Amino acid sequence: MSKLQRKTALVTGAASGIGRATAQALQAEGARVAGIDRDAFAPDHGLDIALKVDVTDPEQLRAAVAEISDNLGPIVVLANCAGVSPGPFAGHEMPDDVWALTVGVNLTGSFNVCRAVIPGMLAAGGGSIINIGSVMSKVGNPGYVAYVASKAGVLGLTRSLALDYAQMGIRVNTVCPGFIETPMVARSLPDDPFEAQAVLTSIRDMHPVGRLGRPEEIAAAVLWLAADASFVTGSEITVDGGFTAR
Ligand code: NAP
Repeated sequence: MSKLQRKTALVTGAASGIGRATAQALQAEGARVAGIDRDAFAPDHGLDIALKVDVTDPEQLRAAVAEISDNLGPIVVLANCAGVSPGPFAGHEMPDDVWALTVGVNLTGSFNVCRAVIPGMLAAGGGSIINIGSVMSKVGNPGYVAYVASKAGVLGLTRSLALDYAQMGIRVNTVCPGFIETPMVARSLPDDPFEAQAVLTSIRDMHPVGRLGRPEEIAAAVLWLAADASFVTGSEITVDGGFTAR
């Protein structure tokens, strides 16, 4: 039997990139998967439920979690993949709204979703929460102070929640990707194709394996944490082609 057969998973940011690949990987392992995103889903999304929800809005989230649980059963896997990375801005030029958006989605948004699903996980006897950090959870990045701070915060969020629920069957972990081929990276490139290629080459060269990662390679780590990693909590798995090994 597939490892997540008849289990319900919620994936945020499921309309794109890592979230979409994660939703597909969980489905392939038998889970019933609900996706939420602030963007519209492609018509062929293939999810059991797809809802337009903003993770910065706790009320929308509460309603979405209730709808998903009523229709698919209690959510026992959460993959927090929604994220934004606006920039670059020198630290002293960081606009208030960009700081608030970045921390609001990446850190507070991840917390909001955890808080919304944990009561159901407790009632169901446990669950697995996987937050998406970044290599930027561990190292700085010029021009991206809000992103780096938000992703460093995700490690603290993960560790503290892991301790809160360690004896109640809920495991909480972080996956820290290197640069991955997704729309988020594509959007960050300059418009000029030659400049874009130069930036892409410099990003590639930061990874000792000599390439960017693929969304499925992050989804595989999420899947392991969701389905197999019974003694892993409060931890982070770095999936970065050697980026942070240098
Ligand atoms: P992506 O392709 O842009 O997907 C992220 C999805 O989250 C988008 O559909 C986005 O919508 C959605 N989203 C943003 N704000 C939201 C909100 N408030 N409520 C609900 N959904 C929201 O990016 P990705 O590369 O897959 O990134 C997924 C996660 O991995 C993020 O946390 C990111 O920081 C992290 N990560 C990515 C990389 C990388 O190199 N790609 C590396 C390390 C970590 P919009 O398109 O409207 O913004």
